[in-house]
Amino acid sequence: MTTAKTQTLLPQAELYERLCRLFHENRLPSSLLFAGKKGVGKWVVANLLAKTITCQNPADNFCGECASCRQAIAFCHPDIYYLFPLPKDEDKADKLYLPYLQQKQQRPFSDASDDVTSFVTIDNIRKFQSNLSRHPSLAKFKVGIIYEAERMLPATMDSLLKTLEEPPRDSFLIVCTDQPRFLLATIRSRLQRVSFPALESKFVESYLQQNFEIPEKEFGIVARFAAGALYNVEQFVEKAFFEARETAFDLLTNAVTMPASDLVVKCSGNAALENREKVERLLIHWQSMLRDLMVINTLPLQTGIDPSQALINFDYADRYLEHRGRFASLQRVEQQIEKLEQVRSELRRNVNPKMAAISFLVGLNQP
Ligand SMILES: [Zn+2]
Repeated sequence: MTTAKTQTLLPQAELYERLCRLFHENRLPSSLLFAGKKGVGKWVVANLLAKTITCQNPADNFCGECASCRQAIAFCHPDIYYLFPLPKDEDKADKLYLPYLQQKQQRPFSDASDDVTSFVTIDNIRKFQSNLSRHPSLAKFKVGIIYEAERMLPATMDSLLKTLEEPPRDSFLIVCTDQPRFLLATIRSRLQRVSFPALESKFVESYLQQNFEIPEKEFGIVARFAAGALYNVEQFVEKAFFEARETAFDLLTNAVTMPASDLVVKCSGNAALENREKVERLLIHWQSMLRDLMVINTLPLQTGIDPSQALINFDYADRYLEHRGRFASLQRVEQQIEKLEQVRSELRRNVNPKMAAISFLVGLNQP
């Protein structure tokens, strides 16, 4: 296991500064939609902005030292409210509230809960709304942050719409989601959209260096797998992830060089295919390798581009060459990438992981 240290870097610095500037110029819209894929910093920026809005020493940024900042940092600010998916059971929900926030603090780019049965319920949004309609007690403004907003139940969305139609005074609402299309169109139209782009590769690399102890040569590869989003990046820095990459390449080689019957025998005793987690990891690698092979087969046509610069597994550039001819048909490779998606959904439906992987590998060698 790699050790995670505390992070102090600022993602989306430019975007955050722009929002702060708008606030200080009294031009920040009171209802915002932070939209962008998982792991690009929506949570971090929403919280930094909440601190800036409530700080008692207004400057360009929050001071980090006043009573307001200290309480915001501890998630106990009386004027900052959070709403996110929680279990329906009220006792359970109460117990999970603070741990959710603390986990987001520690791993801001990953999910705080993998409980798919949790939703933003109507009871919780009512509490949130009643807090937001009170007078601010410590700061000049109140801030409400809704996280994973795509998991609002229909009745919750209807209720939110009422708040948006008549926003409470002296308040800001920040709605964060990676799936804006799941929000009611009437909600989207009342929010000022702030689109979060992919993180800059410089930020991704610094974040990895600061938070994880991984060999220098692996930073670049992990950064490419992350592709501008640090969602669940922990999985890419584990030793097992790199070991699985070797296995994935070996199996890919076997698949295109061995008769199907030998391949099946070789795979049936393979421990790397024994459970869903391991096979899912292999799928990530096979996908990156098929994509790389596609790049290798198309890029040399455009002069001046070094294929190894465009590859995810750029250190495999030479090893790919032996397979290049077998993946010359772009249409075939696209089909195989689609097949990977099928295998992924089969695994979610509890299909035997080994059988699913073997069927994919055998398919690679079919004309
Ligand atoms: Zn402050």
